[in-house]
Amino acid sequence: MCKPVSWKISLHGGHSSGFCDHSGSTLGEMLDAAVAFGYHCFGVAEHAPRPAEKYLYAEEIEMGWDVKTLDRLFRVYADTMDRAVDTYMGRLQVLKAFEAEVVPPKEYAENMLSYKRELNFDYIVGSVHYVDDIIIDYKQEYFGQALEACGGYERLAVRYYQILADMVSKLRPEVVGHFDIIRKYFPMEREKELYTTRAKAAAEEALEAMREFNCILDINTAGYRKGSPFPYPAPTHVQLARDLGIPVCFGDDSHEARHVGEGIEQAREYLLSMGINRIMTLERGEAGLNRAGVSLIDTLS
Ligand SMILES: [Zn+2]
Ligand SMILES: [Zn+2]
Repeated sequence: MCKPVSWKISLHGGHSSGFCDHSGSTLGEMLDAAVAFGYHCFGVAEHAPRPAEKYLYAEEIEMGWDVKTLDRLFRVYADTMDRAVDTYMGRLQVLKAFEAEVVPPKEYAENMLSYKRELNFDYIVGSVHYVDDIIIDYKQEYFGQALEACGGYERLAVRYYQILADMVSKLRPEVVGHFDIIRKYFPMEREKELYTTRAKAAAEEALEAMREFNCILDINTAGYRKGSPFPYPAPTHVQLARDLGIPVCFGDDSHEARHVGEGIEQAREYLLSMGINRIMTLERGEAGLNRAGVSLIDTLS
């Protein structure tokens, strides 16, 4: 097992063209950028396939992709990652992961867990991009539909966290991705509805589930890219996680080589400002993956 030597670690990122319709760089370009940034460990977590036509993005349809394409590309991705792990050994610890989907609601858990087993992934990043079958982080228009279906901002937030908690207990993902991405399309003047008593209680239940199943909270720097002063999650939820003893990691959620490493130093400052001076990482050992704490202060930068 190689010992972590730096806090420059991302456990959620590396989306690449060829496997993801909305990425701008190849996997090789992403991994080279990870080496250039000085990452000690880079967990690549491509999106899992969505197994029904209705979940395809307009861009995927335009590219001529269908449900079968998504499944086929995902299998090629898994194979390609096996080679990448070896190719970069000694320069970068590459971990082979994927970002799970919660659709279709009744089938996703079985699908995701069988992908993990069958294609031999190191770990899962459990993320919620859909609230009851409606995507909430893709376009304002769909966010609006989810909002209407739930009956308001607070209810949407509550429902989102319920689905997140349920996903955590079903998938037991090693990492939970962008915990409060539901805020992406919240207008600023409605943001307080993310923190009502009910919404906070629902978020806290999701965090309790994460604690129960030993999940790591992704401090996801895509938040900065979306114009927020914070990564995902915002301070309220990071403080709650800290108080519950839930470990955190970084995720650059990179979809292009220029995103690789972006915001990680700022996110380190963000954690230190809340009294969090350790992150948790995953390390490939003889018998599988190990968890290891890494200091944000005493290690090489
Ligand atoms: Zn993506
Ligand atoms: Zn995501």
